Amino acid sequence: MKKKGFYLPYLLSVMVMITLAGPQRAQTKEFNSDSIKVGSKAIYWKSERNYIGMLAAYSVVYKGWQSNNARGYNIGSVLLRNDSLENGRLVFWARNCNTITHNETQHGEVRLMLGYLAKLNADRKHGKRVPDIKNLDGYTVFTTLEPCAQCSGMMTLQKVHRTVYGQSDPGFGKALERLQIDSTPLTSGGYPPYPRKVVSERSNIAYCDLLEQAYKNAGPDVHITDFLKSDEAKKIFEQAYTEFRNYKAQVPSINGQFLEEAKRMVESVPKNFKPLIPDI
Ligand SMILES: [Zn+2]
Repeated sequence: MKKKGFYLPYLLSVMVMITLAGPQRAQTKEFNSDSIKVGSKAIYWKSERNYIGMLAAYSVVYKGWQSNNARGYNIGSVLLRNDSLENGRLVFWARNCNTITHNETQHGEVRLMLGYLAKLNADRKHGKRVPDIKNLDGYTVFTTLEPCAQCSGMMTLQKVHRTVYGQSDPGFGKALERLQIDSTPLTSGGYPPYPRKVVSERSNIAYCDLLEQAYKNAGPDVHITDFLKSDEAKKIFEQAYTEFRNYKAQVPSINGQFLEEAKRMVESVPKNFKPLIPDI
């Protein structure tokens, strides 16, 4: 009897807690766009979106894989319209095309930013309803290799909010971080951080670790773009592409449609070179 009396209030309080934090309540929470206020599930949809974005970027590169760099380097990127719950979607993709265009400015990220705004303008001229923008304020760039100074400069001026990269570049990376260095305390005279900070994040996806380790194993004399045509690198990109194709949303109520649209975009990516809209 004593034992039963002890457990009853406990049981009742557990039942009350289950009722309060039941599935209906959890579902409402999922749809709150402010992830800071609403708990781990809502935070998870954002990290899952980052994961999908990164998988899509690797997939874009894998679909146009070359062992001879005839198009350009095996580097590519995708553009996320914004981080909000309702409008967030991948809207554009691009790959490095330095060789085929005989133009070494044609990095994946440059073509991504230039190409998307050019496409919007072409659509606008043809009477389509498109976002009324002239820059990429609030957008996120997922790119397979850490951005160089050229692409970081363009991201900065175009007000890109954030970039997430799938492999560090020990040679030409950390450009965005360098722009944020405050050297004003230097006695010889320095400079404040550059305006319009772009957040730069190394992806926590496993393929990032694998690529960095494989590049390290290739030895100190191998240039990163040569490593990126190796079979070793190709295998890792292939794994990412396979995972992307089989991936099922973990928070389907929020990311299900986002994932489907991302898959459709990646499906449309051809193996061969695709010129940008010429009417810029
Ligand atoms: Zn670049």
